[in-house]
Amino acid sequence: MLSTHDHNRFQKGYQYVYPVVSRRAGGLSLGINLNTNNACNWRCIYCQVPDLVRGTPPAVDIELLERELGSFLEQILKGPYLADHVPEGQRRLNDIAFSGNGEPTIAPNFLQTIGVVGRARKAAGVPTAVKTVLITNGSFIHREKVRVGLESLADLNGEIWFKVDRVTKEGAGFINDINLSSSRTMSNLALASRACPTWLQTCLFRVDGVNPSDDELSAYKNFIRDVLDQDLPIKGILLYGLARTSCQPEAPRLSSVENSWFEDFAEAVRELGVVVKLTI
Ligand code: SF4
Repeated sequence: MLSTHDHNRFQKGYQYVYPVVSRRAGGLSLGINLNTNNACNWRCIYCQVPDLVRGTPPAVDIELLERELGSFLEQILKGPYLADHVPEGQRRLNDIAFSGNGEPTIAPNFLQTIGVVGRARKAAGVPTAVKTVLITNGSFIHREKVRVGLESLADLNGEIWFKVDRVTKEGAGFINDINLSSSRTMSNLALASRACPTWLQTCLFRVDGVNPSDDELSAYKNFIRDVLDQDLPIKGILLYGLARTSCQPEAPRLSSVENSWFEDFAEAVRELGVVVKLTI
């Protein structure tokens, strides 16, 4: 039986596809892991990918992905999979999610994988209400093939969860271990949100017992103000804390912020005029 605590991305007999029961979604999420070599172009200090390496994944075996998706969807929608493996009350397919051991859009044939999901959804008769979610750090969205993929994703009841943890160069440098300007994040967010419904996702936590700094939070709120001033059609912000232990060397330095702090910050962001969903 799957549990909400088990977010392992390995399913025996499958290379790319894995099931997860999501408490937040109240159902089963069928994950797609394109980064089978645990490679990402970022190195977030809270990342829960074991043996994470910098780099890109090998090209996806498109035929294998299509077979795996088709077979798993068949088991979920027409077989006994939900009754056998999913707790009562959560026996429904909530979404198909590109959520792997690294950034999905850096897969060399990412665009083709969107086509695979489209064909697999159609062949298995996946209900339209089931979302296709892309969890991304957004850093490759300016690439033509990725942007085209996002437009196709929109046709599959798509949703993008676009990571924006820190908006200052220093903050992103430390938390995500990347060299990224807020203007590049903003332009990629504009491309994403105009191609497909998009949520920002932001992870907040303490480092060495210290909450995110006032300067960092105020830069974040200014970024959101700019998003709203530019009329970027974002759906809102998913705010969350440390759900599981980091697999990075900084893990012992990280801890959760207090719930009341989180609720106050969520409220302050809501006051800017944006929907905020908080998962503590
Ligand atoms: S972008 Fe995602 S997979 Fe990549 S390092 Fe950050 S948390 Fe890990």
